[in-house]
Amino acid sequence: MFVFHENTQTKKLQEECEAKHISEQTCPRCEDGWEPHGGKLYFFSSFTLSWNESRRQCKSMGGDLVVVNSREEQRFLQTTVREKMDKAENEFWIGQTDSKKEGEWLWVDDTRLNASLTFWHEGEPNNWNENCVTMWEKDGAMELKTWYDQSCKSSHEYICEKPERN
Ligand code: CA
Repeated sequence: MFVFHENTQTKKLQEECEAKHISEQTCPRCEDGWEPHGGKLYFFSSFTLSWNESRRQCKSMGGDLVVVNSREEQRFLQTTVREKMDKAENEFWIGQTDSKKEGEWLWVDDTRLNASLTFWHEGEPNNWNENCVTMWEKDGAMELKTWYDQSCKSSHEYICEKPERN
């Protein structure tokens, strides 16, 4: 029995697993979809969910939405997002939000956004009503600046991260 069936979006995931003949046991994990980099594993979804649903999905796979800890990691994510984008409007949720307190951007591991490691696109964040962050690569973003604030309820692809298993 599939674990996820509460709403249409998770149903979509289930259908995607079925279409790819991924077994019921491994479907929610999609283990082989993880990409290793720098001692971590990354999952780039090929379907869209809200920020909260994306986070729940990452957790169900043993990870969380991605936390950007270095320029190198940002560069890797940006490069991979560019490869994964099959439409210009594809944006990917990352693990950052200011929904607790407006203007106070926190990562999902509760660390505060480090000012020297911010990659907002020019003019972002630009909306008090948009409390979650996507990565969007358009025409080769300058200086790795690929972050946009978006409404947490909107549907986007997402990036999960988890430690490599030894
Ligand atoms: Ca990280």
